Amino acid sequence: MRVSSAGTSSYNERMFALVVVWQQSGKHRKSEERITVPYNSLQTTVQAINAAGGRIQSVTPATAPQPAAQPAAKATASKAAPKAETKPSASKPAAKAAAKANGSKAASKAAASKAAASKSAAKPAHQMVPVNLYKPKSPFLGTVTENYSLLQEGAIGRVQHITFDLSGGDPHLEYVEGQSIGIIPEGNDAKGKPHKLRLYSIASTRHGDDMAGNSVSLCVRQLEYQNEAGEQIKGVCSTYLCDIKPGDKVKITGPVGKEMLLPDDEEANVIMLATGTGIAPMRTYLRRMFEPTEREKNRWNFRGKAWLFMGAPKTPNLLYDADFEHYQAQYPDNFRYTKAISREQENSKGGRMYIQDRVLEHADEIFAMIEDPKTHVYMCGLRGMEPGIDEAMTAAAASKGLDWAELRPQLKKADRWHVETY
Ligand SMILES: Cc1cc2nc3c(=O)[nH]c(=O)nc-3n(C[C@H](O)[C@H](O)[C@H](O)COP(=O)(O)OP(=O)(O)OC[C@H]3O[C@@H](n4cnc5c(N)ncnc54)[C@H](O)[C@@H]3O)c2cc1C
Repeated sequence: MRVSSAGTSSYNERMFALVVVWQQSGKHRKSEERITVPYNSLQTTVQAINAAGGRIQSVTPATAPQPAAQPAAKATASKAAPKAETKPSASKPAAKAAAKANGSKAASKAAASKAAASKSAAKPAHQMVPVNLYKPKSPFLGTVTENYSLLQEGAIGRVQHITFDLSGGDPHLEYVEGQSIGIIPEGNDAKGKPHKLRLYSIASTRHGDDMAGNSVSLCVRQLEYQNEAGEQIKGVCSTYLCDIKPGDKVKITGPVGKEMLLPDDEEANVIMLATGTGIAPMRTYLRRMFEPTEREKNRWNFRGKAWLFMGAPKTPNLLYDADFEHYQAQYPDNFRYTKAISREQENSKGGRMYIQDRVLEHADEIFAMIEDPKTHVYMCGLRGMEPGIDEAMTAAAASKGLDWAELRPQLKKADRWHVETY
């Protein structure tokens, strides 16, 4: 089975071509058929094909070059349910599939039950995770020790790596990889009330960047946008954080969050989908997995496969890139690093290369990994990344005869699908 990549523009066109192989039955020999459907009928069409006993060989954007389909498809195809779906109509596949979708359901259920079966083995030890040690009414006062740019020359915007000293707290503000902290910026809002806290994903492991166990680091992008009146607006807390200096005291709350915790299993596989500052939790995982001092301290020797998909607008905007390149060179069997640089790389359709294009390019491998109950997927970044990833996963799953809309909640229930977007 082959899945080619689909660019953002193809999603707008939203037409997909499926090549289906019908097995020999009675006097009819094996044959191939090409079916074109709109995106919103993809799942139901796949269900119908499965129910009729067809095997999907590929799913590609409809305008992409197709593998040559064999002639002589007619006799077998005519008796199969998806025959009527060769037209790009949304209603027919949907109606057919309602009656014929059992095959696909079975495939999805098999994968889903695998997912569910893995629940107890893969589930992180949530009860051990510290939460809300410091609340907004009595925050911890952390001291800034470092605040430096993570961007290279020519990058767009402003992204800082900021570290706070946590020593002296009672209780000690401890946290684990995948959690967030709250920051309360100085000053008052437009109503004269103290600013509310903003959450930031922690970018350091529980040991801190210096391994002393007394600090926490963040990766903060300064929010900047133009309002309707054309004024340039800067975000309150992100600007406050990007501007703070070593020695400044900052109000910190938390930690919070159990959504993005790593499994305890040293043999787990971890697929990471990150854009921009969504890299923060991924950095903690990768340090825990591959930094020699972390491995020593943790006595947790990651032996699974980790695969980071990182999206950025330009190469100088890639965050912690040199570290990840180093891990890939040191642990080629355990770590893979795939970048989507939208303003520099082209997808197969000649459009900008986004992270969802990379997901589609590697759909076979990703789904082979997801079929393994030891595999967890983590997604973090701006909320806008979710629809693109969801569409890519839908198309990728469909090419395997799976229904992503059914499979995703099952993975979530099994604590294997982790999303934190903002
Ligand atoms: C769990 C979690 C983890 C997070 N982790 C991180 C992280 O690791 N790094 C990070 O940098 N951020 C992270 N954030 C986002 C962070 O909490 C703040 O939302 C962000 O820094 C902006 O806060 P601010 O005070 O600067 O902006 P504010 O002054 O609060 O302004 C934000 C408001 O501006 C408006 N606005 C924003 N963009 C536009 C636009 N284009 N057009 C019009 N109006 C707009 C919206 O009304 C928005 O609510 C995370 C959020 C969550 C929930």
